[in-house]
Amino acid sequence: MSKASRTMIAVLLLIVFAGCSASTEGEAEQKEEKQPILVQGPMPIEAEQFADRLDDVKEEKSGTFVFYKGTVDDYPVIVAKTGKGMENTAAATALAIEKYDPAAIINQGTSGGHDPNLEVYDIVLGERTTNIGALKTGDRDEGEGIEPTNWIPMDLMASEGSAGEDPDAENIRYYDGDQDLLTAAQQVKDTHEEGKVVEGTIGSADLWNNEVDRIQWFHEKYETSVEEMEGAAGAQIADAYEVPYLGIRILSNNKVNGGEYDPDTAEANQEYVYEVVKEYISTADGK
Ligand code: SAH
Repeated sequence: MSKASRTMIAVLLLIVFAGCSASTEGEAEQKEEKQPILVQGPMPIEAEQFADRLDDVKEEKSGTFVFYKGTVDDYPVIVAKTGKGMENTAAATALAIEKYDPAAIINQGTSGGHDPNLEVYDIVLGERTTNIGALKTGDRDEGEGIEPTNWIPMDLMASEGSAGEDPDAENIRYYDGDQDLLTAAQQVKDTHEEGKVVEGTIGSADLWNNEVDRIQWFHEKYETSVEEMEGAAGAQIADAYEVPYLGIRILSNNKVNGGEYDPDTAEANQEYVYEVVKEYISTADGK
């Protein structure tokens, strides 16, 4: 073989090897670059069972928030134990978006029924989520008493001006659930055998309502299906960063129809949400 052809072969081989290693590097990079799906749960019983289902889990803590970073079907999924309530959820959501750049967020856990047709173990997909703790009271002088049924909704996101003075702020703000997440959840409704899965409105506040008349007031005025303490806080922050978001809430109690609190509902919800995540991944991968 001539020197020229030997050089030629060597050059060709180099190109082939360079090509090979470039493409495997490219694939690895692509795999790492996949944006994770974030699944939030407030209490240990609402997050840890999902975290146990992840493969290759690494735990990261930030303040009181715990993030379980792992995979489902080789796709990156992060479970966040946020703690209860609006403040914890808002902070944990902003932190997770900044740290992990999630492709989508599912906020899930237990809730109390506002709709008499919903039983303990039924699941509500948050077509809409709203803050039922943002309220403005009526104008009453000393001695005129307290009249909660005259309180009006207050939309803190209506403007940067005074919410107390701005008539545009006297509206209910609803955050819409993301359509692709909703579709994935609808596809796997049948996997939840302990109850039905319906679309509805999730109302959130740092509040546990045990007054049936008050629950009915929210149900009529805000069209709430359930109440809990986190969804609207996560939805507001996800909206601020334009991250797709869906609330998925199982009824653990329903004061309106006598449904007693059952903490085992938290596990049943995580089982269902696991199916939703797998479905969402299978469609995201195909895109
Ligand atoms: N009963 C529970 C308390 C849970 S605290 C216990 O004694 O341990 C409230 C948590 O449950 C919040 O994360 C909230 O999202 C959810 N939740 C369930 N039912 C609720 C209801 N009826 N009203 C408000 N939050 C409720």
